[in-house]
Amino acid sequence: MSATLTFLGGAGGTVTGSKHLLETGARRVLLDCGLFQGLKELRERNWAPPPVEPRTLGAVILSHAHIDHSGYLPRLCRDGFSGPVYCTPGTHDLLKVMLPDAAHLQEEEAAFANRHRTSRHEPALPLYTTEDAERALGRVKRVDFGRRFTPTRGVEAWFTPSGHILGAGLVTCVVGGRRLVFSGDLGRYGVPIMVDPEPVAEADVLVVESTYGNRVHPPDDPTERLIAAVRRAMDRKGWLLIPAFAVGRSQEILYDLRRLEADGRIPSLPVYLDSPMAIQATVVYAGHPEEHDPELRRAMTDGERPFAPRRFHLSQTVEDSKRLNDVSGPGIIVAGSGMATGGRILHHLKRLLPDSHTTVLFVGYQAAGTRGRLLKDGAAEIRMLGVTVPVKAEIMVSDAYSAHADREEILRWLGGFKRPPGITYIVHGEADAAEGLRDAIATRLGWHAVVAQDGQRVTL
Ligand SMILES: [Zn+2]
Repeated sequence: MSATLTFLGGAGGTVTGSKHLLETGARRVLLDCGLFQGLKELRERNWAPPPVEPRTLGAVILSHAHIDHSGYLPRLCRDGFSGPVYCTPGTHDLLKVMLPDAAHLQEEEAAFANRHRTSRHEPALPLYTTEDAERALGRVKRVDFGRRFTPTRGVEAWFTPSGHILGAGLVTCVVGGRRLVFSGDLGRYGVPIMVDPEPVAEADVLVVESTYGNRVHPPDDPTERLIAAVRRAMDRKGWLLIPAFAVGRSQEILYDLRRLEADGRIPSLPVYLDSPMAIQATVVYAGHPEEHDPELRRAMTDGERPFAPRRFHLSQTVEDSKRLNDVSGPGIIVAGSGMATGGRILHHLKRLLPDSHTTVLFVGYQAAGTRGRLLKDGAAEIRMLGVTVPVKAEIMVSDAYSAHADREEILRWLGGFKRPPGITYIVHGEADAAEGLRDAIATRLGWHAVVAQDGQRVTL
C-alpha cells in the first residue's frame, strides 16, 4: 500500500511547530508534535483546530524534547488523542521537566490575560493545563536507540542518535518497503557532552532540518570567551551573569566551567545555578551517561561529577535566588532565560547591569527584538521589570555555542549515505536557510532536493 507524508508545521520557512503526518491507508502516525513559537501569527496557529483529527492518529513519534518538537502534545491529548507516544528514555526524562513547565507558562499567560483583560476571550483559557501535560506523559512508551518498534500496523520504526540534545534521535520509518528518514534536529561533530550525529546508510525519502542551512559556525573555541569573562569577573571582583537555556546550554556551560577549572585555566569561583528547570535538566543529563560522548562517559563511570564545578550552589527557590542579592562577587550566576526575555536572570540584570564590575556573557543565538539582542548590540539602557536600567556592565558574546549542525556539518552527515536518497525534503529553516541548503545539496552532492511547503502532501 502506498504511503504519504504531509508537512503540517516546521516547513515552508517556519522553524517551529514541527509536525509531519505519515499515512498508509487508514493508518496515521504523527512525526513530532511541536508547538509554534515566536511571532504572534505563528503562535495563533496553536489555537487553530488540530491539523489532523487527534482521534484518528495511531501513534506519535517524537524526535526530541524541545518544545517546538513536542510542546503541542498535551493539546493533542486534550483534544482526544489516546494512542502511544514513542520516544527515547532521555527524551522522556526531559519531557517530564519540560511539558509541565510549558503547561505552567500557558496557565500563567491565561491568568495574566484575565487579570489585565488583554484577551478577546472571556475568560482566557490556557492552551493546555498541567493535568493535560501529565496525561500526555502517561502515554509515553520509551524505546532505546536502535530498537525496532511498530507505531501502527504496517510501519516499523527506530531511533538513531542525532547528537542534538540528550535523547535526540533521527527517526527511520519503513512502510510498504519504502524507507523514510527524518533528521529531527541534527547536532554537531566533536562537541563536548553529546555524541556525533550517527550516519544513516539509505533512505528513499529524506526529510532534513536546515536551521543553519546557509551558515557556518565560527571556528573559534567557544570556551575562549568564557575564560575571558571569568577572568574579568575575578579581576573586577564582580559578578559574571550567564543567561542560558535550561536544557542543553546550561549543562554545556557547567561542564566547560568544571573542565577549565580542572585544567587550571580559570580560577574556581562560586557558581550558582539559579533555575529550577536547569537544575532538574542537569539531573536528567547526569542520569544518562550512556548518551554522552565516550570521554565524558568514562569520566562518569569513574565517579566524576562533570556538571558540578568545585564551588557549586543550586538556587532552587525564589528565596535562594533573592539571597544572592546579599552576596558580593566575584562569582558566576547561570540562569534563564537564554535571551533575557524572562526568568530569574532579569532580576540579576536589573540589579547588576548598572555596575561596571559586572560582566554579562551571552552564549547562544539572540533573536531580533529580545533584550539579549539589544544588549548584544550595545544598548546604553534597557527596559525590564517596569524600569529603565542603565547598562554599565561589560557585555560579552560567545557565538560559537550551538546545538545545531551548520551547513558543512549537515553536508558531512548527508555524506554518510551510501546512495543518494530518491528525494530530499528540506524543513525547519527560515526561507534563506532552507534554500541555501537546497542549493548546497544540489551543487555539492548532486542530489534532488526541494524545500518542503507548509501543508504539502507527498507520496513516499
Ligand atoms: Zn531542537
